[in-house]
Amino acid sequence: MTGSVYKHKCPDCGHAIRVRNSEGLSELVRACYLQCTNVGCGATYRATYEITHRLSPPAVANPSISLPMADWAMRKIASQSHSNDSETQMDFDHLLHDTPQLA
Ligand SMILES: [Zn+2]
Repeated sequence: MTGSVYKHKCPDCGHAIRVRNSEGLSELVRACYLQCTNVGCGATYRATYEITHRLSPPAVANPSISLPMADWAMRKIASQSHSNDSETQMDFDHLLHDTPQLA
């Protein structure tokens, strides 16, 4: 099985979902094509993944995008999920690059 397992669960059966493919819609938005890992379900979905905030300022900012800085509460959640999360994380490298396997 290829693709990344995302923490998002299948909304129909509750099993893990993997990212089958994705495509860039803009510099901040990607469409993701998801597939339920439960062979008895087999559901597929389209979702969108959007970069909405900066958690820290970039060394080389892109002048063509405008992103607000995350507030304290968002940064706290991000740091907690990084240090306490033992589940498999979505492979963002896979998500952010187009792959030719969409069927
Ligand atoms: Zn399912």
